[in-house]
Amino acid sequence: MTVIVPVSGFVTAGSSVTLPSRALGTVTGMSSWTRPHVENSEVGQELSGSITAASRARVRAPITVTPCLGTSSVADGSRQIDVVSDTIYWPLEKGTYVETSPFGMRISPITGTLHMHEGVDLAAPMDTPLYSVADGKVVEVAENYFAGAFVKIKHERADGTVFYSVYLHQYTEKILVHEGDAVKAGQPIGAVGTSGWSTGPHLHFEIHDAADKVTDPMAWMKQAGAIHLGEDACQ
Ligand SMILES: [Zn+2]
Repeated sequence: MTVIVPVSGFVTAGSSVTLPSRALGTVTGMSSWTRPHVENSEVGQELSGSITAASRARVRAPITVTPCLGTSSVADGSRQIDVVSDTIYWPLEKGTYVETSPFGMRISPITGTLHMHEGVDLAAPMDTPLYSVADGKVVEVAENYFAGAFVKIKHERADGTVFYSVYLHQYTEKILVHEGDAVKAGQPIGAVGTSGWSTGPHLHFEIHDAADKVTDPMAWMKQAGAIHLGEDACQ
């Protein structure tokens, strides 16, 4: 079944976006990469049989979304960023992803036990570009067996509030930034993958507060007035 969801905003009038309905049922990966040492050996072994599910949990082909005039193509990564410094962007372009698992306690799809899911899972096709949600500085680019390759960025808002954004399950060779880099809001930083504890291509996205503690990323982003790339150019 295909779900047609009409959208407003930067998509031209009369157009629509086809969301990957199958992705709604996609079971996504583990989190807790911030506390890796608790479960290492046991969970790692249980995991071995589940990883193969990745090949079955496919998301449909990318959706073509027409950005409004004045926004250059992102295909070559050369988008001209000209935004207010305090703008908060969603990490994926509108229409490219579906939320598949929220922040909070859940039964882990891998261990079958109640577990804190420390971010939100946004299913998207492999290699869908990821963008920094705000101006900031890359504080970590690393890889481990549960998070896969990931990027962590430290941000400071106009009012001085510090927060962090984290982007998991990437592949090292697709990551475009290095530790210490300064990044701009909306700057491409990498791409969706399915490395680590993941059962299909998705971004596990986290927001950490000033104390580097996880918080509900969807609630935080909405509170911050997050917009999608291109939306600011249509207002
Ligand atoms: Zn996740």
